[in-house]
This record gives sequence, structure tokens and C-alpha cells, in this order.
Amino acid sequence: MKVLKFGGTSVGSIENIKCVKDIIADGNKKIVVLSAMSGTTNALVNISDLIKNNNIDEALLDVETLYKNYKLVLEELIEEPNLKKDVENYINTVFDFLKDCTSKKHSELLYNKIVSQGELLSTYFFTKYLHQEGVNAQLLPALDFMRIDKMNEPDDFYIQQNLKRIISEALPADIYITQGFICLNAFGKTANLQRGGSDYTATIIGAAVKAEEVQIWTDIDGMHNNDPRFVENTQAISNLSFDEAAELAYFGAKILHPQTVMPAREANIPVRLKNTMDPKSYGTLISKDFKGEGIKAIAAKDGITAIKIKSARMLLAHGFLKKVFEIFEKHETSIDMITTSEVAVSLTIDDDKNLKAIIEELEKFSTVEVDNQQSIICLVGHSVVRHHETHRLFQVLQDISVRMISYGGSNNNISLLVNTNDKITALKQLNSYVFEFTTA
Ligand code: ASP
Repeated sequence: MKVLKFGGTSVGSIENIKCVKDIIADGNKKIVVLSAMSGTTNALVNISDLIKNNNIDEALLDVETLYKNYKLVLEELIEEPNLKKDVENYINTVFDFLKDCTSKKHSELLYNKIVSQGELLSTYFFTKYLHQEGVNAQLLPALDFMRIDKMNEPDDFYIQQNLKRIISEALPADIYITQGFICLNAFGKTANLQRGGSDYTATIIGAAVKAEEVQIWTDIDGMHNNDPRFVENTQAISNLSFDEAAELAYFGAKILHPQTVMPAREANIPVRLKNTMDPKSYGTLISKDFKGEGIKAIAAKDGITAIKIKSARMLLAHGFLKKVFEIFEKHETSIDMITTSEVAVSLTIDDDKNLKAIIEELEKFSTVEVDNQQSIICLVGHSVVRHHETHRLFQVLQDISVRMISYGGSNNNISLLVNTNDKITALKQLNSYVFEFTTA
């Protein structure tokens, strides 16, 4: 059985919803995971923020605008009167709930419940649309089987047991539809897998049912070898190993949620990235096999903060890094890049929520310098650190000021830290360099 996940744009217009139906209705049994229609989760986050800030009138206006959008989709998509009635009732229930939320006290749970409505709406709509088109589909509510544990990790055993059970209890179907992103937490309350988490849902389900393949359908023909927003003539990469894909997903290649690769790698399930608007294009196949050496892709991640910690006490002393790491751990802030010298250590974080408290503690035994607005540029490829052409990277970068380099942390990744203002130039220069030598 295959698991196919369709992102927000794939279910974001009537035309695309019809494309999705054509892709999945091929007579083969499958599980289909859907995101919310594009724009919906952002709108719901906004409504939640307005409630939090007590802007109730504005929140109600936004609820009303979203309601009207869904009514329009309903008018265009569902013609069959009974199905139309069902969907209309469902929309009304969801929007009555959202209106009701505006009079409630804001909490994390309220936020989680509000943002879960997007996936609940898209899957309900889509299942009814498939019924209208004569496709044998059943809806499997994600909240009946998808759960995370106290560490916010997927509870694999629970998921596997419950998914198996609800499939066996459901009416026989060719296509099982379920919601991406949403889940229960360890206490049985509504939670989620973080923004963009539907990809992760797909590979978690893939591992649970031992799928032959997981397909992630988006609006681009696979993972590109550079960022198409800034660099011209980028190309889709046809094959990536799990390790290469994981590095790229984490360091900025927005097409895939960073944790998506993990369950697939553990269960050795290939992940195929495909384009809903161009289903014939090959896309990118992520598997345990690696093809070719040297740099395969470049990606950039913005919003990075660099912290330099200098201390005379570091010289020839042991335990200094432990002390530094403990402070970051205490403030639940993960470190991405790190480089050291005898008297200083530089590191980067992408979440500066607790930066002030971290600096205060570091300053008790060191001098601290902070640079905001940094970007990590990562170059990914199998054995890239050992490839005989990789040294040329430094010639290309002679015009760009590099704040940090991480080389050899993994064989598949070289990371550079640059000022965000230099990012586009660096991406462009590196791009010409990559194409010069990877064809060799
Ligand atoms: N709808 C959620 C979001 O926008 C999850 C997803 O699309 O993957 O973050």
C-alpha cells in the first residue's frame, strides 16, 4: 500500500482538487493524507492570535471571511444535493465552533483546537467530493490513531495498533483519507506536529503500515538543487539518500518538513516528491541508495543568530563546552552550527526566544557577542567533505564574508554562516560553481 500526502496548494483550488482526484483514483488501495487548503492554517493562527490579544470583533470578522470562502468552495465543488447538505452542516459546525472560541479564554489547547479545523475541513470536503465522483473512499479521523508522547515524539506503537484497528473496522475502501498535521498529545488532548507537519504525518503513517512508498505531492517538481526563488535555472534532483534529504530539509529546503525523513529512513520506505500540477515529471526519489558524489544541492536557512562566547578560562581547560551546552539545554534552545578556537566558541541558534536569559548566564564567565540576521548556507551531497573538487568552494567565496564554517560534522554537509544580506550573492556564486564541477 502507498501513502500519498497532498499539500495546501494541491487542495487549495477547485482545479487542483480535481487533479488530486485524477492522481489518486487509479484503483489501487492507498492512504491519502491532506493538509488544510492553502491559507487556511495561517488564517486560523491569526484568529487564535486575535482572541489571545482580546481583539474579538476582528477575530469574528476573520471567522466570517473564512466561512464565506468555504461556502464558495462548497458551491463550486459539490453538486449532489445530499452530499451538499452534509458538507454544509459540517462547515456550519466548524464555524459555530470557531465563533464560540472567540468567547473563550485563550490557551495552548484552544490554539491547537482552532488550527486543527483546517485539516478537518479539507478532508471532509474531499471525501464527500470523491463520493460524488463515484470513488470508494473512507475518512479515517487522525485523532483516532495519531498520538505523540510526553517528549512530543510520535507514539509509534499506539499509532500502529490503532491505525490497524480503525482500518479493519472501517468500511472497505480503495482510498482512506486522513488529516495531516493534527494529533493527540500524551494526555489525549488535541495537539499537532508543528507547522508544515503533514509531511511528517505521511511518513509516520507509512512506517506504521509498512508502506511500499510514501509520496509527498506539492506544487514543485521535487527538491531543487538551489533555491528557485533566488537563483535562475535550478533543477530538480532526481535521487537523494535519506541522509542527504534530511540535511536539506532541516537547512532550509522548505519543500519538506525537517522531521519527515526520519520515520521513512528507520523503516526503509522510499519517499517520492511529486508535483500535483505536473504528475508526469519524475520528481525526487529519496531512498537508502545514494547516487553520485560531490555537492548535489545548496539551501539556505534565514533567521539565524550567531553567538560568540570568549573566555580566557577556556584556554587549556576542560569542561568549558559542557558548561555552555548546559545553559542552552536549560533554556530548551537547540544549537545548530558550532566552531571553536582555543579561547572562543561560536555557535548558532534559530530560536532566539530565550536569548536574553542565555546571554545573562553566559556573561557570568565569558564575553558574549551576538550577531542577528545571519543565514546558514548548506551544501549537501554524499561524501561532500571528501570530494576532490570541494576545495574550490573557498575560491568562490572570496568575495563574501563568511562568519563561520562547519566542515566534517557529517560527511554529507558543509555549512557556511553568512550575513543574510550576502545570502543571495552566495547562493548564485555557489550555484555556478556546483554546475561546473558536478558534471565531471
Ligand atoms: N496545515 C498545516 C500548516 O499549514 C500543516 C501542513 O500543511 O503541513 O502548517
